[in-house]
Amino acid sequence: MEDEAQAQTPIENVRWRRVLAWFRENLLLVFTIAGVILGVFFGLVLRLANPSEEAVLLIGFPGDVFLRLLKMLILPLIVSSLITGLTGLDAKSSGKLGFRTLLYYFCTTMIAVLIGIILVLTIRPGKSTSAKEELGGKGVSSDVTTLDAILDLLRNLFPSNLLQACFEQTQTYYEKEDVYKTVKVNSTLAPLTAISYNATMGENVTSLVAGGYTETSMEVFNGTISVRKVGYKGGMNVLGLIAYCICFGILLSQMGPQAETMVNFFSILNDITMKMVFLVMWYSPIGILSLICAKILAMDDLGLVFSQLGLYMITVLLGLLIHTGVLMTIYFVFTRKNPLRFFQGMLQAWVTALATSSSAATLPITMKCLEENLGVDSRITRFVLPVGATVNMDGTALYEAVAAIFIAQMNGIPLNMGKVITISLTATLASIGAASVPSAGLITLLLVLAAVGVPAEDVGLIFLVDWFLDRCRTSINVLGDSFGAAIVDHLAKKELIEAEHHKMEEGDSNELDGLTKPSATDGMDAVRSDNGNTDTTL
Ligand code: ASP
Repeated sequence: MEDEAQAQTPIENVRWRRVLAWFRENLLLVFTIAGVILGVFFGLVLRLANPSEEAVLLIGFPGDVFLRLLKMLILPLIVSSLITGLTGLDAKSSGKLGFRTLLYYFCTTMIAVLIGIILVLTIRPGKSTSAKEELGGKGVSSDVTTLDAILDLLRNLFPSNLLQACFEQTQTYYEKEDVYKTVKVNSTLAPLTAISYNATMGENVTSLVAGGYTETSMEVFNGTISVRKVGYKGGMNVLGLIAYCICFGILLSQMGPQAETMVNFFSILNDITMKMVFLVMWYSPIGILSLICAKILAMDDLGLVFSQLGLYMITVLLGLLIHTGVLMTIYFVFTRKNPLRFFQGMLQAWVTALATSSSAATLPITMKCLEENLGVDSRITRFVLPVGATVNMDGTALYEAVAAIFIAQMNGIPLNMGKVITISLTATLASIGAASVPSAGLITLLLVLAAVGVPAEDVGLIFLVDWFLDRCRTSINVLGDSFGAAIVDHLAKKELIEAEHHKMEEGDSNELDGLTKPSATDGMDAVRSDNGNTDTTL
């Protein structure tokens, strides 16, 4: 027996060492997943104890700090990553990169909308629901039209004040104004006379000046009207900042040695920001635990909501699942690499998106995962990801198409082909216009509803489950951007190498070495762990 045990020990030791090594290398991921599981567990258990409002506030506080930390990093990250990314490319490569990126974004968003529409028309969740009667709903209404949304998008693309763009964005809104009409009021008066001297007659003459009455006008209340106004709302104008930084980065890359100091400045800013992201990532398990636990504690009657809106939720979730499959297939077709391994590398970002419901807040972690776990060239991630986080929202587009048709079905509104096409186009547009913050998709959904004349009041109903669907669609938004970055990286490999040679020929490769990281030749198979070791076995 003793001999047997001794014989097994070395093998077991090797196994244990392997398991330990895996845990050590993936410690952060293990902690993050543990954060999610513990968050759900504590949330459900503490619900039974019915904690006070203060207790829920305190439980959610570490999560609040986590969100603030992530948001703090968005501005320096977007500015420095876009500019350094573009200075690492030549004009020809960045043009091609931009074209491929936008083409990918547009096609995948349209596919997502199509999946949503096919599912909602097949499952028909709105036909069988009694949710409207049982749950009621908070009325939501908006006068904002599709034209307003397009113009706002363009206005935000060209911010009039860059500093203001860091914290405010343009938004059209409608204000109710009272309207008055002028009413003439006649009052009969005693005859009004005037006395004048008649020189011919040599005497005073009395004459009638007004015909016995007078006319006055009065302002009378005549109802209210909606007046279109262009104002500002809180929240960073990411689109405007991106537009400016792209222009800045391209021009900077064309300036040669003269711009060296500026290039170094942004490169160092980018490095420091990424170091901060690394620190925040180690705090993320606690933040995620706290966010999820507090959310579960703050929810109302779960059972009723889920049972009544269940079919609608299943439609959205099924759509998101199918779309993930489509993205994986597209990735495989272009790169011939295993999409499941890709997903594994992105797990940290995916979980963060689930916890934060914001693709902008997840951006720092998405970038880190793609560059460090999957070996995607940083010149690509720095360009593709900030743009993607802002305009590419496959999950949101799918969700908006499903929600609009669901509400139409609930109200018995027939949808012809024209209306379905309108929904697909406006859902695409609304997803582009949606800010990458929690529940932004719910606001832009009003646009889709307005475009096909579906009542906006029922948005209050789906609002009840939006906290959950928002998390799911945000995680797909983040995945969509990430797959896009990996595909564009794969397609651009040749150009990236050419761009590098070009820079070297120009003699300024030394200065640029610090800001460009050559693409891992074996793409995602090269997985670098947090301690910098490269592990090709994952
Ligand atoms: N929360 C989503 C995001 O940040 C946007 C949405 O509400 O659909 O990507």
